[in-house]
Amino acid sequence: MKCLAPVLLLLQMCVSTGCVFAASPAGCWSLRKHGHRAEAQVCFERFTHSSDAYDRAEGFWGLEEWQQANEQFRVATQPESSSALYKVRWGMLLHERFNNREATDLFREALTKDPSSAPAFLGLAIVSADTFDGKATEYAAKAIALDPKLAEAHELLASLALQNDDREGAVAEADKAIALEDDALDAMAIHAAAELLADRSPEAWFAKIVAVNPNYGEAYADVAEQLELHYRYEDAAVYYRKAIEANPHLWSAHSTLGIDLMRLGKEDEPMKELELSYDNGYRDAATVNSLRLLDSYKNFETIRDESTILKLKKTEASLLQPYIQSELHTIIATYDKKYRMKLPGPVRVEVYPDHEDFAVRTTGMPGLGALGVTFGEVVAMDSPSARKPGDFNWGSTLWHELSHVYVLTATNHRVPRWFTEGLAVHEEGEHSSEWADRLTPDVLVVIRDKKLLPIAKLDRGFVYPDYPSQVVVSYFQAGSICNFVKERWSEEKLLAMIQSYAQLKTTTQVVQEDLGLTPEEFDRQYLAWMDKKYGAEAARFNEWREKLKALVAASEQKQYDIVLAQGPATLAIYPEYVEDANVYELMADAYKERGDAKAEAAVLTAYEHEGGQYPAVLKRLATLEEAAGQQAEAAATLERVNYIYPVKDEELHRRLGDLLYAQKRYDGAIREYAAVVASGPMDKAGAEFHLAQAYLAAGQKDKAQESVLAALEAAPGYRPAQKMLLELNQASGKMN
Ligand SMILES: [Zn+2]
Repeated sequence: MKCLAPVLLLLQMCVSTGCVFAASPAGCWSLRKHGHRAEAQVCFERFTHSSDAYDRAEGFWGLEEWQQANEQFRVATQPESSSALYKVRWGMLLHERFNNREATDLFREALTKDPSSAPAFLGLAIVSADTFDGKATEYAAKAIALDPKLAEAHELLASLALQNDDREGAVAEADKAIALEDDALDAMAIHAAAELLADRSPEAWFAKIVAVNPNYGEAYADVAEQLELHYRYEDAAVYYRKAIEANPHLWSAHSTLGIDLMRLGKEDEPMKELELSYDNGYRDAATVNSLRLLDSYKNFETIRDESTILKLKKTEASLLQPYIQSELHTIIATYDKKYRMKLPGPVRVEVYPDHEDFAVRTTGMPGLGALGVTFGEVVAMDSPSARKPGDFNWGSTLWHELSHVYVLTATNHRVPRWFTEGLAVHEEGEHSSEWADRLTPDVLVVIRDKKLLPIAKLDRGFVYPDYPSQVVVSYFQAGSICNFVKERWSEEKLLAMIQSYAQLKTTTQVVQEDLGLTPEEFDRQYLAWMDKKYGAEAARFNEWREKLKALVAASEQKQYDIVLAQGPATLAIYPEYVEDANVYELMADAYKERGDAKAEAAVLTAYEHEGGQYPAVLKRLATLEEAAGQQAEAAATLERVNYIYPVKDEELHRRLGDLLYAQKRYDGAIREYAAVVASGPMDKAGAEFHLAQAYLAAGQKDKAQESVLAALEAAPGYRPAQKMLLELNQASGKMN
């Protein structure tokens, strides 16, 4: 009787729904896909009692008994003669349970068994798409070549195309899937997403999906993911919510909703959603890491003023706040004017001293900047303390990210990635030529090999790079395109392009209408411009590399005559190179050896103006400038270091404070002496006293008194502080 119960139940349900017994587990999955969840459960349950291990594995999988399913797959794949498909299915189970590494191994093992297994290639494609490693399209195409009727592979290609903003390609692949299977729900979701991205109604497609399965929350989640990848975080949240509404047990959607809301600067609801998915066993890396990050927020403090919200780690908040806040105010004032608009609310900037925390903020966002990232009005970025000194300029990063904030706001988030990135890179260089995007060897090699992308296809260089450095190269290319537009037409044209994108025009239309060229003609002119600018450099890249090697060797052998004789010619080929073992430093060392401080300073100044950012090198230049009596230059050099590595360096702030104080630039001196205090110096009393002196010189007697009292609190017998306090009291006494 006990054994019969499920069968009777199934029969009963089949009477009401008109279904038939599933002959294989695939039938159960089909029931599930069509929204017959209860029937599917019964169906899966039945297969868990099968005499066949593979059927049992599928049965347990359907019941979400992951461990047992895993065990049964192990048994099923044991015999040498077992089907390659079993390994593929096992791999898919592991993929679903967040284990892409072993899933990949299983797909590869399946291919060893059966090199023409289309599902195995599809598995590899799915994992690649998940990790944005750039091989997904290739694998999916292989799967289709082996089995043209594999609808899922077409669905995946459709999704990949849409991620690349290839809307026509996406819709075409989706149609192929639908032609093969009339219940290709994910293909329908791609159609819905494509409609939304074009600001048309997706409802007809959702109606088709609902007709097949009213509880297919995955469709809404697919759509939300596409919106997110197109920077539309608010809209994405709407569709993640719809996904959960359609299927409250879709834990993956609870998690992605939580992460999306975190991107929008929310904290409480993300915590709730992420905990819910975690507690229900959905524990992928993104969920776990995001929860950990939310938990670490207690170590941060939030500082607000009317135009900014800063979220800084408590340990470095007092040091960084003045710098970041004042830079933000400058940027906002500049961009308000330039973009002729005001932001709807304050900009929120989160600064992470732990790079892993920042990385969590960008999980699943391919090709986004490695240093900062913008979500609507929220900017998340590395703290300088998260990076090696010289790796990162927080100032240029802020100018870059804030440009995104304006452009995303101006276009209501309808802007292709290449253009907003290009403009952001362009803005860095507009603010300071020293901050212009680096012409790195990677970029130079791509220019030499003529592998820059056509403008109409530049987006894919960010999302699905064909070679490892393509993302970096694409940033450079996008930035240089904006530089080209400014130079050949005007800065005004860039603003016009923003407006055109806001009107939902495609890049092809924008280039045609705003610049009056076909994209092909634009590419031709742009490449000619690039060639004129960098062609000679690119052509001589190998020669430069050989020359640099020889210089490094000469320098190591202390053959300074050779370094100084051959340095200038090497430098002239590729002056933008300021990374490791650059000619500037090699020559500076040689001059130093010669005792020629003037020449040493000159070559380091050239390094500085080329955008060289190693703090130690800049500080060395500042010392030379100071010794040569160039106090203002020395201060300017150290101020550059402040944008690179203002942390863990109380000496830097003290030096700069002294220089500025001596030049009677008291506001700057106050900022720097306050930074010394915030750095937690050994000599707290001395630091507070210097700050008090600067306040006094600036006429801020109350602040001076506060600082001098703090100095005396640290060292009650500190004579100069006692004297200053006495004078301050006498002065205020007179006033009374
Ligand atoms: Zn960017």
